[in-house]
Amino acid sequence: GPRQVRGALFTWVRPEMQRDPELLAISPAAMRDLGLALSEADTEDFKQTVVGNKIQGWDSETLSGPGYPWAQCYGGFQFGQWAGQLGDGRAISLFEATNPKTGVRYEVQLKGAGMTPYSRFADGKAVLRSSIREFIVSEALNALGIPSTRALALSLLPHSRVRRETMEPGAIVVRFAQSWLRFGNFDILRARGERALIRKLATYIAEDVFGGWETLPARLDNPDKPTDSPAPSKGVPKTETQGPAGAEENRFMRLYREIIRRNALTVAKWQAYGFMNGVLNTDNTSIFGLSIDFGPFAFMDNFDPHYTPNHDDHMLRYAYRNQPTIIWWNLVRLGEALGELLGAGPDVDSESFIAEGVKDDSAAEPLVARAEKLIAQAGEEYKAVFLSEYKRLMTARLGLTKFQPSDFDDLFSSLLDTLEALSLDFNHFFRRLSSLPISALATEDARVEKAAIFFPHHYEASSSIATPSTSQVDAQKRVAEWLAKWRTRVVQDWGSLENWGGGDGSDSSSNSSSVSVERDQERMRAMKAVNPNFVPRGWILDEIIRRVEKGGERDVLRRAMHMALHPF
Ligand code: AMP
Ligand code: MG
Ligand code: MG
Repeated sequence: GPRQVRGALFTWVRPEMQRDPELLAISPAAMRDLGLALSEADTEDFKQTVVGNKIQGWDSETLSGPGYPWAQCYGGFQFGQWAGQLGDGRAISLFEATNPKTGVRYEVQLKGAGMTPYSRFADGKAVLRSSIREFIVSEALNALGIPSTRALALSLLPHSRVRRETMEPGAIVVRFAQSWLRFGNFDILRARGERALIRKLATYIAEDVFGGWETLPARLDNPDKPTDSPAPSKGVPKTETQGPAGAEENRFMRLYREIIRRNALTVAKWQAYGFMNGVLNTDNTSIFGLSIDFGPFAFMDNFDPHYTPNHDDHMLRYAYRNQPTIIWWNLVRLGEALGELLGAGPDVDSESFIAEGVKDDSAAEPLVARAEKLIAQAGEEYKAVFLSEYKRLMTARLGLTKFQPSDFDDLFSSLLDTLEALSLDFNHFFRRLSSLPISALATEDARVEKAAIFFPHHYEASSSIATPSTSQVDAQKRVAEWLAKWRTRVVQDWGSLENWGGGDGSDSSSNSSSVSVERDQERMRAMKAVNPNFVPRGWILDEIIRRVEKGGERDVLRRAMHMALHPF
């Protein structure tokens, strides 16, 4: 039953037995990535394994085998407040599996398979509705190139009725990830003063999850092994007390920086694609930099930076615009949990430190003080990695080949302001832009007319109403202004050299040159490869859920998964 689990990182647990489970759908991409043949999904062995009835590699006669299912112990800061022990309350990990072709190892787990010591006051179950949402979005994010935990299979438990606001059918999702560790795994150890376990877990992550200390980023100012981060050296001032930063930065600092960099890259992708997690507590922030824990998540529809899909989040803590700041807030909590390890300097590599670490709080104090400075410095690297990835993605989404500093204000910000002011759909805009030929934007009048394609129902409007309303024309004029700036940049990046050769090609706006048809088609192809035609919007997921739950449909899940796996 639910209890406080001290001095341990996980607990062995057995999933509940399920009667007459129905396998509703699989992800073909997940089968492939785990190294499974599609036909395996038709076997009884598979169907029983994906609900926890059969434990692979465990002999129930002799009670022995290579592995036994387990649930993790973690804590977390929820909405900024320390919440104590949380843990895998309805997730049970089954085994680790390495794909023989790729060599990538995954931890495979069930969600909704019954209670664990971490279930607190809840039932350990998952309802069909939230399971469908997680099943689809995990695979959609991965297909968009956004690091995410994955989903393999979705099963319905026909005899279960789970109490939520109403009684709802229960389900189990099989999910997998290269790591299920969260910041919360460290938070709970820190709160309990379990220092040896913090050292053990950090070491395990470096050696086993990331594949070795040598794979971690190099020290920032080591001239022999420059880091590939975008000019972070500028943002890393050396302070008097620390001496040369290179000498101070030990291997746990490099581990911390690896986690920082991964999360900076992931949150940049969320911002560039309009994804919102909705509950970015530290227990929902991944050590591996994955999108993890899909509750009230959403993709942005009409662009609104203040939007949050979490209706309980009255302070808008987890709104779209706050995500980068919140991930950093979480990273600072992680840095504090690692505190004495980060601040210990090169001592960390000595035999005695590895064996015994720091013994008590008084010995840790000066190290923790030093760690705080190192954490603040690492914040500059977080910003640099975030910005460089965000720029890279927005540049690609806008069909440009090279970022220019002026693009940030002239194209990115002015586009977002325009989308917000006119309540235009974020992802639709990029997709529509991807099939807009530059030749159609040569004159102001043409741009105003073309701008109609970004507005909803423009087809009906153009057929039934001869002249658009004044406010509609004003809105289209605003988009057209942006299109003019965008056109100039596209011509600059894709126009032929002849157009730009000669003496006075400096004034781009007065240059009548354009892009050749071939080059423009190449540009549109490139844009369509990064601007999705499909994202799992809330209303789409609602419709899928309704059709499966009420209509008893099954094929809709297969088709939705197919779209999620082929978003472009
Ligand atoms: P979340 O809001 O999904 O991050 O969950 C917070 C904590 O509540 C985690 O420890 C979950 O495992 C736990 N939890 C959420 N729902 C359930 C449930 N139905 N049964 C058991 N534990 C749950
Ligand atoms: Mg969670
Ligand atoms: Mg959750």
